[in-house]
Amino acid sequence: LTFLGIESSCDDTAAAIVRHAPGTAAQVLSSVVEGQTSLHAAFGGVVPEIAARAHAERVDLCIEAALDQAGLTLAQIDGIAVTAGPGLIGGVLSGVMCAKGLAAATGLPLIGVNHLAGHALTPRLTDGIAYPYLMLLVSGGHCQFLRVDGPDAFTRLGGSIDDAPGEAFDKVAKILGLPQPGGPSVQAEASGGDPRRIPLPRPLLDRPGYDLSFSGLKTAVLRARDGLMAGLGGLRRQDRADLCAAFQAAVADVLVEKSRRALTDHPVGVFAVAGGVAANTEIRARLTALCEGLGVTFLAPPLRLCTDNAAMIAWAGIEQFRLRGADDLTLSARPRWPLDQKSPALIGSGK
Ligand code: ATP
Ligand code: FE
Repeated sequence: LTFLGIESSCDDTAAAIVRHAPGTAAQVLSSVVEGQTSLHAAFGGVVPEIAARAHAERVDLCIEAALDQAGLTLAQIDGIAVTAGPGLIGGVLSGVMCAKGLAAATGLPLIGVNHLAGHALTPRLTDGIAYPYLMLLVSGGHCQFLRVDGPDAFTRLGGSIDDAPGEAFDKVAKILGLPQPGGPSVQAEASGGDPRRIPLPRPLLDRPGYDLSFSGLKTAVLRARDGLMAGLGGLRRQDRADLCAAFQAAVADVLVEKSRRALTDHPVGVFAVAGGVAANTEIRARLTALCEGLGVTFLAPPLRLCTDNAAMIAWAGIEQFRLRGADDLTLSARPRWPLDQKSPALIGSGK
């Protein structure tokens, strides 16, 4: 099967072509991602109205580019997969409307994919692993542990009860006067710092289960900064490096401990991470060591496939199409769509 994937749920407009024949490795024939960072930079966050407009303007260009780069025409495509939620509704609608239009014009099967299912199924696209496996999604907007048992069988074990870790990295960067996105700049600063000098909390470590919290940690960084700056004009270089190192170590500690619990309670043999925060070298190293110790295979797909992209949507579309067939053209965009809630076509189907 060769599927076109379309993604427009946040601030990246993306289109991709993925091909897969059973028993072989999946191929990403093209993956186009058009970011919007510069459009939102002046506003300190993604502005939904601007995002929706940009998606509407760019989505067909991205699709053309994806087909071009794959050397294919629509006539050589077997199906269209589109992110139908969750996300900023105006953006999701831009993609869904475009996909519906293409499906209506070509007669191709259309399938609506949950954005988070795209992230969660990525290790099958990149490494062809078998079900079941455990997944840690850590990005700017999400933080959750998932058990994946099939293309549409996800169990959310737990997750952040407030901020996502990427958001916390971004806010800490802001507090310390470092450039955005915060993850890479905090990581760079932390490499010259002492993670033990400034004590920071390890939120929810004492509580059973897999829930996490990052909002208090961010406030603790703010307080520590104010303490270090007291009586000085600004923050000393070494103090800033030590604070970054302490913050990064605290995030790594809670992620590792909760991962250990999840892997102990669900001994499935494979642990995969996805999302922008999985790029953090310290967090990655600590999770790798944890898995080595537990005898579990650790997978971290390449970054371009574990941040927002449309190849993961095309792939999830292929897997779900094989499971349940196509959606019809009444497919709607959903601003909220918990991953353990079944896809529309499966509700009541008994599958
Ligand atoms: P979502 O995919 O959940 O809708 P998003 O698009 O913001 O949200 P991603 O693109 O997956 O998420 O990741 C971006 C986040 O990852 C940002 O918050 C960024 O600071 C963080 N990040 C990127 N690199 C690093 C790093 N090296 N260390 C820590 N965090 C990082
Ligand atoms: Fe995402």
